[in-house]
Amino acid sequence: MPSNRRRFLKTVASVPGLAALGASPASAGARQERDVYKGLGGRPLINAAGTYTVLSASVMPREVMAAIESASRRYVNLSELHQAVGRKIAALVGCEAALVTAGAASALTPRAPAWIAGKEAGKIPRLPATDGVKNEVILQKSHRNGYDHAVRNAGARLVEVETREDLERAVGAKTAMMIFFNVHDPLGKIKVEEFAQLGKKLGVPAFIDAAADIPPAENYSRFLKMGYDLAAFSGGKGLRGPQCSGLLLGRRDLIEAAALNNNPQTDVVGRTNKVGKEEIVGVWAALEHFLKQDPKARWREWEKRCATVAEFVAPIKGVKAETFVPEIANAVPHLRITWDVAGSGIKPGDVVKRLRDGDPRIEVRPVIGEWLEVAVWMLEPDEAAIVGGRLKQILEKE
Ligand SMILES: *Cc1c(COP(=O)(O)O)cnc(C)c1O
Repeated sequence: MPSNRRRFLKTVASVPGLAALGASPASAGARQERDVYKGLGGRPLINAAGTYTVLSASVMPREVMAAIESASRRYVNLSELHQAVGRKIAALVGCEAALVTAGAASALTPRAPAWIAGKEAGKIPRLPATDGVKNEVILQKSHRNGYDHAVRNAGARLVEVETREDLERAVGAKTAMMIFFNVHDPLGKIKVEEFAQLGKKLGVPAFIDAAADIPPAENYSRFLKMGYDLAAFSGGKGLRGPQCSGLLLGRRDLIEAAALNNNPQTDVVGRTNKVGKEEIVGVWAALEHFLKQDPKARWREWEKRCATVAEFVAPIKGVKAETFVPEIANAVPHLRITWDVAGSGIKPGDVVKRLRDGDPRIEVRPVIGEWLEVAVWMLEPDEAAIVGGRLKQILEKE
């Protein structure tokens, strides 16, 4: 080795930043991984909250990262990739057609124009201006939420209804489609199955946002079988694909229309919801990986983690810990911890704050009552004991 190169390598190895960037010599042994968060000022966190977007939702399994790495090394035609991966995804979940979107919310945007402008080249560039086209989207008043902004982005006018009779009256010449937010099913008078049946009866395409309803994997096809024409899911939540990915599944003609209103086309509403080859391949790889796993084994692992956390806190006097499964959205084992809030003087909000301010920083679910909720499914396997240990310290007032 020339001496100047040796000298350079020696210098590099002595500069921590450079060594961490992977510039350390191969002779130094195993390649060191770069920790990109170091030095950025932010504090990484242990995610005992679940698939919250603001907490970056999930981390991708190694198998998914390997597929993304592979995708990132070559050029492809993005339209061809969309079609090829769409076919693979549709075959995996058992539906007619699929489109990778930039998230479940993003699936709402190209899907709305699919009904408003369809495949009509003249109408597509005019959106979100909707003069002269069907632009009314019917939904239950109790289903209104922040994500319906994505539908409004496409120029849709939301028409609120409460009862079945309201809905039947609301359908008219300007009706483009009807939309159901599954997480709000308990709040509405019209339930998930009846809503799909009404769509069929009235001849209005029905769409369901089921962003957080994976697992179980059966949900990918369940709503379509129920009669929905299209369904949207997050790619970066329970599926653990890229955070900026989602799946739009359903009828072939509508998926084709959505694709025409979506990136990589330019003069379309969906242009701003771009996914690259990394997201497209990544969400497909995540789906393959997810479907290969044994759902029962996955469930047992989550129950085991709940039990691990419970073992730390349940022996504390007055503290109770029980596993529960949310009925809709994130329907996996969680742990609910209750104690005598008034008697102990420990408020759930204060526990959340102390977990957040501590080292390591831990996030749990937002407080909705006089108790605490811990999600274990997004933890790394060894983190359940860390969360349990911290909770024990706080609840024992150490
Ligand atoms: C998270 C979520 C979305 C948005 O999903 P993204 O994949 O983050 O775009 C939409 N609807 C519901 C009900 C959600 O929970």
